[in-house]
Amino acid sequence: MKFTFVTLFSNLVEGYFQDSILKRAIEKEIMSVDYVNPRDYSKNKHSKVDDTAVGGGAGMVMNPQPLFDCLDELKKEDEEVHIIFLTPVAKPFKQNDAKRLSKKSHIAFVSGRYEGIDERVVEKYADEVFSIGDYILTGGELASLVICDAVSRNIEGVLGNSDSLSIESFETPLLEAPSFSKPKVYDELSVPSEYLKGNHSKIRSLKLAMSESKTKFFRPEQLLKQRIRKSYEK
Ligand code: SAM
Repeated sequence: MKFTFVTLFSNLVEGYFQDSILKRAIEKEIMSVDYVNPRDYSKNKHSKVDDTAVGGGAGMVMNPQPLFDCLDELKKEDEEVHIIFLTPVAKPFKQNDAKRLSKKSHIAFVSGRYEGIDERVVEKYADEVFSIGDYILTGGELASLVICDAVSRNIEGVLGNSDSLSIESFETPLLEAPSFSKPKVYDELSVPSEYLKGNHSKIRSLKLAMSESKTKFFRPEQLLKQRIRKSYEK
């Protein structure tokens, strides 16, 4: 699977792939990463990529021309490319999107900067538009990386142990139970005593109870989903 980052600041993105799981996935050729700078497509004699907003308003907006040319080229090179724009006003990115998008062959992320991208670019080229949350970042690079990371770990072979995917939070309405590592007691704090007794059915029930209380505390709306799901199963 290929990821292309369309960004004015590829330096901000590159470092993320230089270590850990995604670095290994690239080395194993399970995925690849490429960068395209819209500035390289600017026909402005100073390679400008932004201008003041038509109709007034504070700040600069990214011009259509460099992005039109850059995205035309990308589509010409690979007609399968799935183009995602990042914007705070779009639908929020979710785990289901990560799983669905992991089946694509090529995703391009288009990052806005300044006050954002001329809307005509989004209308013409977006296959999908995502927000990563209700707050404003300075640019789309972090948002692209968040989505790329979440999608990548669903690509077969990226995670060493694919079992870990199925037990994670958001795979079911219940959040994952709290995790503990060794030692069993640290700084006078013990892991739950039931975990130490080796009775797997009791450990499973305890984990379920802890999942439920964690969900009730952090995401009560998820519990409602769980109840609705169960009532349909009856
Ligand atoms: N003027 C825009 C608004 O109020 O909706 C905000 C522009 S923001 C400063 C610049 C760029 O950062 C956006 O074009 C987008 O690519 C990215 N961005 C900012 N917050 C984001 C979020 N929550 N999710 C996804 N992208 C975001």
